[in-house]
Order: sequence, then C-alpha cells, then structure tokens
Amino acid sequence: MLLSTQIVFGKMLLQVCITNLHSIFVSILDWIGISTGRGRAVRVAHKAAVREVHRKTDKSEAVTPKIPTPTSVNYHFTRQCNYKCGFCFHTAKTSFVLPIEDAKRGLRLLKESGMEKINFSGGEPFLQEKGDFLGKLVQFCKQDLQLPSVSIVSNGSLIREIWFQKYGDYLDILAISCDSFDEDTNKLIGRTQGRKSHLDNLYRVQSWCKDYKVAFKINSVINTFNVEEDMREYIAELSPVRWKVFQCLVIEGENAGENALREAERFVISDQQFQDFLDRHSDVTCLVPESNQKMRDSYLILDEYMRFLDCREGRKDPSKSILDVGVENAIQFSGFDEKMFLKRGGKYMWSKADMRLEW
Ligand code: SF4
Repeated sequence: MLLSTQIVFGKMLLQVCITNLHSIFVSILDWIGISTGRGRAVRVAHKAAVREVHRKTDKSEAVTPKIPTPTSVNYHFTRQCNYKCGFCFHTAKTSFVLPIEDAKRGLRLLKESGMEKINFSGGEPFLQEKGDFLGKLVQFCKQDLQLPSVSIVSNGSLIREIWFQKYGDYLDILAISCDSFDEDTNKLIGRTQGRKSHLDNLYRVQSWCKDYKVAFKINSVINTFNVEEDMREYIAELSPVRWKVFQCLVIEGENAGENALREAERFVISDQQFQDFLDRHSDVTCLVPESNQKMRDSYLILDEYMRFLDCREGRKDPSKSILDVGVENAIQFSGFDEKMFLKRGGKYMWSKADMRLEW
C-alpha cells in the first residue's frame, strides 16, 4: 500500500517537473525573441516530447493490476464425499465445515464485492445435514442476497425429492457429475457407492429437475477409462442445458504427489485424446469443453475456510480467508484470470428466470 502510494506520488512529481521545465523553456525562447521557423520547430518538438512522457506515465498508471471482481464464485464448503473417484481434485483433506452464520457472512461479503453467481460444490454438498445445510445457503443466496444465479455441482447420489420441495424454487442450475453411461466404467472410476447405480440416480435427478423447474446440467471428466466412449445418444435423451466436458486435471497435493489422497496419473489423457473426444461429440450443441489450462486459471475457488485457492502452479495455494481480510485482499492471491474467465464463456445465461425451460 505504502509502496503504491509512493509510486503514484513519484509519477505526479515527475509530471509537475516536466510541465514546469516546459514552461521555463518556452519562456526563455520567448524572452530571447526566437520566433523564427527553427524556434517554432524546436517548440513543437519539445511539446510533442512532453506529451509523449505524459502519455507514457498515464499508460503505466493504466496497467496497474486491477483487482478482479468475484462475478462467479465456486464455494467448496465441504471436502467430505461418499464417492471415491480416482482423479478427484478436491479431496477429503479436512472434515471442516464453517458454521452456517459464518458462511452466510462470507457470502454477503462476496455479494457486496460484485458476486452475481454462486456455485456450491464439494466434496459432496448434499452430505452435510442431509442436504439441509446446502438448502439453507441456497435459499439465503436467492432470497436474501437476490443473486441472479445459484447453482450446485453434486454426484447426485444423496438428493431426495423432499429437497426439491423445500429448496427447488431457490435453485437455478443443478449439475450432476457423470463420466460414463456404462455402469462398469463408473465403478472402475470410483464414481459409485456400494452397489447403488449411479445412472439410476442421474436419471431420477434429471426428472425431478423437470418437475421442480431447475435447469439440469451434466459434468463429465474425460479420462483413460471413458475417452473412447460415444455419449451422444444419452446426452440427447437427458437434454441438459449445458454439458461441461473437462479434461482430467492433475493437482499436486490433491490427486498427485506425496501427500495426496488420490493418484490421478493413470487417468490422465493427452490434449490430442481430449480433442478426439470433443471432435466425436462436435454435433452436441450444449457441449462446453474445458481444457486443463482453462480450468487452472479461470475459476474462482473458495475452500472450506473461505480462502481463495490459486491453482496456477499445478497445486492449490490458499489465500487468507475472506472472513479475516476481506474479499479485495484475499482475491489478489486467487490467481484468477478474469480475461480467461470471460474467454471461456464463464458468463452465460445462468439465471433460470432468463431460460426457457421446456422439457
Ligand atoms: S464425486 Fe468424486 S470427484 Fe466429486 S468430490 Fe466426490 S470423490 Fe471427488
């Protein structure tokens, strides 16, 4: 803070000096009576030089890093999950969940800083208090904070119809993770609990989304186990508003390296394999591809302590909590690339009031 004030003061001082030197120079020219063509040329050249210095100092002012706006935030309020996906990149490293009043305080701070969309994620967000913790936050964000968009990413296995009856009105979008339409492949990946069918859950939740007017979305992680699959028929049948297709991502400390709870190496595919999958599904209009690079820089991720996580170095480096230092301070350590966020289409029609939800 002190340093940036000194820099700004220095620039102002430089501008004042240049302007004064210019005036003295012009006065001398006038005093000695130089009004010849050469004298005028010197004056014109000098003025141009001064303008250039002003332009440069103004320009350097403009490139002072801008504090990003937290337009769209992903709040991973829990790391606990009932599934064991082998490539999971937000693993159960702690069992901490903030008390709900603290979580609400943080969400209000984000709203005051410009948040328009909140996405609740995990771990599995329906695990805490059988979905009631999540439901209360969803209701708070829509009813009290009046956010244009409230969404959830879930594995879908713990959602009950009663949840939609209580909280469905406050939810814009529900995304269910599904990587394969072959039950055995889901099991190999670890996207399952016991003998329950992941696909049955997926279809059931899609039908409730229809009944309770919540936009339905599917997220798929493309990895070595599903990279050859053709999912077009199933996606057409389920008709999600968006199908997010991610390239399996390695994050040090989460699914790779010494202290990680998962080993994602055997799931990793090349950029070319990912592209081949996208090409095979190129006629699916709701498909939104997410390469590794887009995923690393263009998401604002808040962890269970409401700390932003910077993923640029291939690991998750936390900021301080927004509850302790405020949003503007913490967001500077988020690694968030606002331009990339806009480039990847991060801002889209995300309020169900604006969508024509026809089924
Ligand atoms: S469903 Fe899978 S990827 Fe998602 S949090 Fe659970 S274990 Fe991780």
